[in-house]
Amino acid sequence: MHKNFLCSQCGTENALTNRFCTECGNKLAATERKAAACTDCGTENPSNYKFCGQCGTKLELTCPNCGEVVPRDSRFCPNCAYLCGEGRYNDALT
Ligand SMILES: [Zn+2]
Ligand SMILES: [Zn+2]
Ligand SMILES: [Zn+2]
Repeated sequence: MHKNFLCSQCGTENALTNRFCTECGNKLAATERKAAACTDCGTENPSNYKFCGQCGTKLELTCPNCGEVVPRDSRFCPNCAYLCGEGRYNDALT
């Protein structure tokens, strides 16, 4: 089951991989894409899942700012340097 998400501005369905609405050019807010699609089976999982509930594949983190895939152990988004990787939690622990 592949679900697209709707543009908040015009309601057009866009593929999850789109960053901009194909209809109106509205920047698709990363906050709208809460579900992380499994890279293996395509199942959407809640963003707090670390593994796909369907097939057990490790899920990627995506930057809430730009939507880029962020390695889980890094601290910053490799694309926009937004502090969003789980590596940032290491600071709090030490
Ligand atoms: Zn739109
Ligand atoms: Zn999966
Ligand atoms: Zn980013």
